[in-house]
Amino acid sequence: MTEMSRAIRMQSHGSADVLEWVDVPVTEPGPQEVRVRHHALGINYIDIYFRTGLYPQTLPGGLGQEASGVVEAVGTEVKHLKVGDRVAYATNLPGSYAEHRTLNAAHVCVLPDDISFETGAAMMLKGLTAQYLLLKCKPVEGLNRGDQVLFHAAAGGVGLLACQWARALGYELIGTAGSDDKCELAREFGAAHTINYRSQNFVEEVKRLTQGQGVKVVYDSVGKDTWEGSLDCLRPFGLMVSFGNSSGAVPAFAPGVLGPKGSLYVTRQTLFTHLRTRESTQQMADALFEVVRKGQVKIPITRTYSMEQLREAHVALESRATTGCMIVTMT
Ligand code: NDP
Repeated sequence: MTEMSRAIRMQSHGSADVLEWVDVPVTEPGPQEVRVRHHALGINYIDIYFRTGLYPQTLPGGLGQEASGVVEAVGTEVKHLKVGDRVAYATNLPGSYAEHRTLNAAHVCVLPDDISFETGAAMMLKGLTAQYLLLKCKPVEGLNRGDQVLFHAAAGGVGLLACQWARALGYELIGTAGSDDKCELAREFGAAHTINYRSQNFVEEVKRLTQGQGVKVVYDSVGKDTWEGSLDCLRPFGLMVSFGNSSGAVPAFAPGVLGPKGSLYVTRQTLFTHLRTRESTQQMADALFEVVRKGQVKIPITRTYSMEQLREAHVALESRATTGCMIVTMT
């Protein structure tokens, strides 16, 4: 008999109103897949890009790329999981806004017993992102303890994890955020300095905080609104890491602008390149589990929603009303 699951399906792109819970069939796992009964789901800004159509997707379609739960069925070629395992994952294909889900097992990791389902659902996509940004996206001159980096939206989900991880690595993180309260929160979580980029000129502030030198690297998920200014915050040979579009997509630019600004480097990163193999996924997850278990990176779940409140959660996230990580727990 085909199993059924409550799941979000969008018939069209648009506002949070397009999110509808419906009953859908859950497929049996293929050889390299696993079926998971979800306990909690992570809500991420990328879900909004897929909902609005900024990121392409075939419709009708699911949403959500982060969750935790228990393994219900395992494909014949999957070696690292068994029925009953507690697991968590971040994955490239939307569809985790569901009670049950069948997905590529390569992205699914066993969750250590001392990490709750709630924390597991909140930390995989955001934590693995903070990790690859700070540990793998380094400027050509390297990144050492005491170096200054600029991180936009520092009080958000990825942001608060990055503040803590940067502090653990000894980097001096300058965080921007959209209110004084958000700035204070980012400092509590480890930002060395903060800038309210809605009331202050962040380029001038970065110049002041770096004695006119600029930073070695900018981590920019805001996109359209911060792109130009971010380039002006870099020192010669500095690295611009673009990894999101919360204010809109970065406009097309001519590479020629990078020369006079100091022979800058630019990269556009996505987590799913870093998670492209089972081995790289597990290595990254193990490093994340370690800093979480040591208490170096705490997962700030600021709001827990029910399935029925998912639209409300989307509205809050895209209106900049949130900080930290948000999850949905299944009833
Ligand atoms: P956040 O919790 O950080 O929420 C987004 C934040 O962006 C807002 O809270 C707001 O903070 C800021 N923002 C600035 N301008 C706007 C605007 N015009 N509209 C809405 N928000 C704005 O989300 P996540 O932690 O889920 O993700 C953070 C970013 O990282 C997103 O852009 C996401 O797409 C990106 N990301 C990229 C990945 C990758 O590998 N490429 C992987 C994971 C996330 P404030 O009010 O302080 O400005």
